[in-house]
Amino acid sequence: MFELRRDAYVNGRWEAGTKRFAVRDPYDGAPVAEVTDADDAMIDAAVAAAVEAFPAWRAKPGPARGRLLRAMAAAMEADAARLAELCVRENGKAMAQAAAEVTYAASFLVWFAGEAERMYGEIVPASQVGQRIEVTREPVGPCALITPWNFPYAMLTRKLGAALAAGCTVVCKPAEQTPLGALAIAQLAEAAGVPEGVVNVVPAADGARAGGRLVAAPGIRKVSFTGSTEVGKLVAAAAVPDLKRVSLELGGNAPFVVLADADLEAAVAGAMIAKFRNAGQSCVAANRFIVEAPVAEAFTGKLIEATARLRVGRGSDAGVDLGPLVDDASARKVARLVADAVSRGALVVYGEPPDGASRLVKPVVLAGITPAMAMWREEIFGPVVGIRVAADEADALAQANDTDAGLVAYVYTRDGARQARAAAAIESGMIGINEGLVSTAQAPFGGIKQSGIGREGSRHGLDDYTSLKYVMRRP
Ligand code: NAD
Repeated sequence: MFELRRDAYVNGRWEAGTKRFAVRDPYDGAPVAEVTDADDAMIDAAVAAAVEAFPAWRAKPGPARGRLLRAMAAAMEADAARLAELCVRENGKAMAQAAAEVTYAASFLVWFAGEAERMYGEIVPASQVGQRIEVTREPVGPCALITPWNFPYAMLTRKLGAALAAGCTVVCKPAEQTPLGALAIAQLAEAAGVPEGVVNVVPAADGARAGGRLVAAPGIRKVSFTGSTEVGKLVAAAAVPDLKRVSLELGGNAPFVVLADADLEAAVAGAMIAKFRNAGQSCVAANRFIVEAPVAEAFTGKLIEATARLRVGRGSDAGVDLGPLVDDASARKVARLVADAVSRGALVVYGEPPDGASRLVKPVVLAGITPAMAMWREEIFGPVVGIRVAADEADALAQANDTDAGLVAYVYTRDGARQARAAAAIESGMIGINEGLVSTAQAPFGGIKQSGIGREGSRHGLDDYTSLKYVMRRP
């Protein structure tokens, strides 16, 4: 057990700084903590520390870096209950989901510890006698890791695990709503014995200011960003002048396709996870339900039955499935999207349109969604189901692809041929077939189209943090 810190973590020291900002409990707005608001000088100091620590860290053998990651993971698991509680306080999510996030977050540290041990190179057959072609993977350098509020631990360990395994040092800029998770991870790194300067965390009240400073900092060689597509584009543009490497994990607009032969019980069970996990505030949340006509009524009925059992409340209270939305702007956005859909003819078949005033949003199910409605194009990020009927399989797949996003898609069908056709036709980085949750450390997570660039997790996760170096050698 360690005492949770509230200060920035720069070069192995906890820096109070001159200004602080409040982290608030999304449930009732009560202050949870006053956290250091890193100014520009502190951000520059963190970058300088990451630059200075880089040569020694990259020189450390991979298995030794891996051992430190494993130690961090073990400490995270040992303190899981308290870390879950902290997550509920700053993010609002239901306790069971916070606990699942801690486990999921630790799994990336373990996974990348293994990858650090297996950062293989290649010997390639050369054309001439006496030549030797050696290919190694070199760490990119000091990285800026910018993360969102919806999974405060996992979005960071998915980056930090890969970066540290590869031999990169990092400066982390967590979301202003949820900086405590990142500070807890810095403490895990400190306690595990990660050398000073390798991991730095700079919380800031103004994410655009601090994130912008970090992306532009000359010492940073790579930026890994998870967040909205809108801000991701700004980050990519800001990385151009120095041609920094960029990875982007951006917004989704996941179709959830239910074909006529689907096991409807399984489809509803998958929908409950894909839609309502984190109260709908997930990049992989099902955003558009597309149901083949013959089963539209039956699926909607069963989904309503399951939805009616969900309890909304304080994330730490027993039996609560959905906590509050993270802030007032999120509550207003969800209300706007529902009002827009209803004004364009959508039918409320379960629940009531949210008023936008309360962050505690109860589930709503809408039928008759059309592409003219804003929620067909925008991420809802709330517990709202919008259902559109498809005439047949081809229509369903065409509807699924009617989006600029391409992160994940879900398809329910028992027919193997339909499964294969859907997997081939749908344009997205990930597809769940008869499965409502695809995120796992050993699989490549990421999107195509406007959902991003690069992959996190899996054996490919190191690619974004390494460059290939080829040496032609005559031994
Ligand atoms: P956001 O884009 O508002 O903020 C993300 C991070 O960027 C925060 O740390 C913020 O402070 C920082 N930031 C803001 N402006 C910046 C700027 N100009 N330069 C640099 N950094 C800046 O996103 P959010 O509201 O925190 O998160 C929700 C979004 O994240 C959703 O769109 C969701 O789909 C997406 N998301 C994607 C994934 C994925 O893996 N694809 C995972 C989780 C969330």
